[in-house]
Amino acid sequence: MYYNDETLVFFNGEWLKAKDLMVSPYVQTMHYGSGVFEGIRSYETPDGTRVFKSLEHYERLLHSAKMMHLNVNYTAQEFTDLTYQLLEKNNLSNAYIRPLIFVGANMSLTPTDEVHVMLCAWEWGKYLGNKMLDVMISSYQRPNPKSCHVEAKVTGHYVNSILATTEAKKKGFDEALLLDAQGYVAEGPGANFFFEKDEVLYTSPLGNILPGITRATIFELCNELGFKLVEKYFTTEEVRGADSAFFTGTAAEVAGIASLDKVNFKLKWEDSLGSILQAKYTRRVAFNEYGNFSLV
Ligand code: PMP
Repeated sequence: MYYNDETLVFFNGEWLKAKDLMVSPYVQTMHYGSGVFEGIRSYETPDGTRVFKSLEHYERLLHSAKMMHLNVNYTAQEFTDLTYQLLEKNNLSNAYIRPLIFVGANMSLTPTDEVHVMLCAWEWGKYLGNKMLDVMISSYQRPNPKSCHVEAKVTGHYVNSILATTEAKKKGFDEALLLDAQGYVAEGPGANFFFEKDEVLYTSPLGNILPGITRATIFELCNELGFKLVEKYFTTEEVRGADSAFFTGTAAEVAGIASLDKVNFKLKWEDSLGSILQAKYTRRVAFNEYGNFSLV
């Protein structure tokens, strides 16, 4: 699914076949989760393939690396150039790009100078799919910001995400929604969360969540569309039975939520602010917002 015999990946300055990539069994990241990564999308646009908000993603990757004491010798611009090469070499246009920075053989609990850089890409449909989601409040909390850097995209943090999604699916739901250590709603296992009440949108403030790049795009779109958006702490009770809700993320894009803990949101998705934002987001990422208008 992710690669075939011809797929090329960028690995420490070289282009290698994915099938030939070998790593040491003593890689620290595999044992302790001390790597950092990104999830980026490219889209077919009227001007060719474009990586959406590439610099923002690579700035976040560099920030994540810094938080984990990993020295990375590439700039966000260099990473972006490599990403375009990666797409071209693999003949990809609408793609999901996964940069991963991981630490070499080291069984102690200290960082080392052996830092590996890998970039790969594949075609990936909308994570979470296109159907309206049934979501449950997870029994797992998001990691406490006092125990790790929650704003960094660190491989080990995703143990929490895997547990939450697995629990939700085992109980017959599509996805989980996690609370923070204070009991306020934080985010999904791999996406930020918004809900709508009386034509106002609400989302959790930064501090206990990953500062999503899609979340920031939604802020921009709300501003352009004149939608009222409030960042605040809120409880499950405020969300349950609200008008509508959705997840946002690079992989998930804008994904509508039908119910929380089996209580339906009031509005039909088509009538919600989220649905307008979803359509607008689809056009924004493909640089195709004025596709139906002629300037002459
Ligand atoms: N929260 C978490 C925990 C995530 O893994 C993601 C996906 N990167 C997001 C939020 C959304 O971030 P972005 O919009 O930058 O993809």
